[in-house]
Amino acid sequence: MRTKRYWLDTGDAAQQPLPSGIADAVTAWIVLPPSSDPTPAQLAAIEATMRLFVEDDLASGVSPRRKIFCDACHQARPMPGFVRYDRYLLCNPCATDYEVARIRGVALTIDQFVHDRSFGAAPEGVSV
Ligand SMILES: [Zn+2]
Repeated sequence: MRTKRYWLDTGDAAQQPLPSGIADAVTAWIVLPPSSDPTPAQLAAIEATMRLFVEDDLASGVSPRRKIFCDACHQARPMPGFVRYDRYLLCNPCATDYEVARIRGVALTIDQFVHDRSFGAAPEGVSV
């Protein structure tokens, strides 16, 4: 599984890969002031980027039948679209939730998100 690193520099669904390097996560999204709600365009951009991760993995031959364990939801999930954050591997839906929680200022660190999700306290889902 490749690691991924993308920079989302606008709120309009535009994203571009960073030059290859020490990619280890989706590292940068728009930073909003705490309590700001992301715009629909920002949410759409996150979802589009996360879908791209799935598509990239599928294009690279990662089988959707292969499953690995998600550190956040503690379930075996299809491998395409997994994202590594620090020492955690998150399935695509959890990674999406984390990114949304992060730009909302609800989850400031991956440790906090994984802990909260493990105990059922992390914000659920993204509705775009
Ligand atoms: Zn998960």
